[in-house]
Amino acid sequence: MNQFLSQDYDLTAHNTFGLAAHSQFARTIVDEAEIPSLFALADQQGLPVRMLGEGSNVILSERFDGITALIATRGRELIVGDNGDLILDAQAGENWHALVAHTVGEGLWGLENLAGIPGTVGAAPVQNIGAYGVELSDRFVSLRAYDRVAGAFVELDGPACRFAYRHSLFKEHRGRYVVARVRLRLSRSAKPELSYRDLSALAAPDHPSVVMDRVLQLRAAKIPDWRGLGNAGSFFHNPVVPAAIGAAFMAAHPTAPAYAQADGAIKLSAGWLIEQAGLKGYRDGPVGVSAQHALVLVNHGGASCTDVLGLAEHVVTTVHDRFGIRLQREPELL
Ligand SMILES: Cc1cc2nc3c(=O)[nH]c(=O)nc-3n(C[C@H](O)[C@H](O)[C@H](O)COP(=O)(O)OP(=O)(O)OC[C@H]3O[C@@H](n4cnc5c(N)ncnc54)[C@H](O)[C@@H]3O)c2cc1C
Repeated sequence: MNQFLSQDYDLTAHNTFGLAAHSQFARTIVDEAEIPSLFALADQQGLPVRMLGEGSNVILSERFDGITALIATRGRELIVGDNGDLILDAQAGENWHALVAHTVGEGLWGLENLAGIPGTVGAAPVQNIGAYGVELSDRFVSLRAYDRVAGAFVELDGPACRFAYRHSLFKEHRGRYVVARVRLRLSRSAKPELSYRDLSALAAPDHPSVVMDRVLQLRAAKIPDWRGLGNAGSFFHNPVVPAAIGAAFMAAHPTAPAYAQADGAIKLSAGWLIEQAGLKGYRDGPVGVSAQHALVLVNHGGASCTDVLGLAEHVVTTVHDRFGIRLQREPELL
């Protein structure tokens, strides 16, 4: 077992928050064929298994008694689909942004709005990543995953993945599926998605790099770079409240951002709520609320999972006391 697994593995460099964290055992997966044997070993030893990509959407606990599977499979392929569409087939351990930049460099449209999102390809369907008016599900064809319950690899299409806003089947059955490869639909003809207000000024871009460059500019201005100041991006979901609550909220706060949803519910801005509650730039020891973007919690250095959870609770309580709205956390506690 010692040859197959690394022991007492330090994960501090494996999470963008930079939280101090150790795993009892770790295994770097470089070939999907290793996944079934890893679960067989774990079952034999009675150890839990958790998956980790680049650790950009997790709050790692200080100690995990089990096996952390570090997904590092590499490879990508462009296939011409039945109707002439281009299908990109990428392995789970590929870096998401590198993949986007590669397709944009080839002049292919489809992923440019999703540039700059940290993490791996395999984790992208888990929370149905989204930004600047596009979600992964908009470009999704299918994926291959190892189903721990079936004990076999399965192919899942969009409906089977149950995608919704920052949600998928994989959040409903945590730990059951290991995403091994993802297929996405791209296009050689210009299909810019510019509905997001900060992109509308681009008019008619003639290359996806125009959109990608603008997205990267906007992201750099908004979100602190985790390589300098540890963070997990947006820490809270934008709350979606029933129409009546939304109407009362908007009457009381006419300048607050509010977006009507198809079902009549209203989506509010978690960042605005935190800022108005007076917490932008707030600091509590090694952790704080970013002074750049109130939706981002940051590690000023040496923080642990306990510090982050304590700050998150303070933010949730303060916003609830002020507005009566309870924020929900986005990163998973692993
Ligand atoms: C600065 C910053 C900006 C961000 N901006 C955005 C944004 O604009 N939009 C957005 O949607 N998200 C954003 N995020 C969140 C994050 O980048 C995404 O959720 C990303 O997809 C996580 O990838 P990861 O490889 O780091 O996953 P991890 O954090 O390692 O894992 C996330 C979850 O996926 C599971 N998982 C990982 N790999 C697999 C696999 N192969 N199979 C099954 N489960 C797996 C893990 O167990 C965990 O539950 C941002 C994060 C940061 C730090």
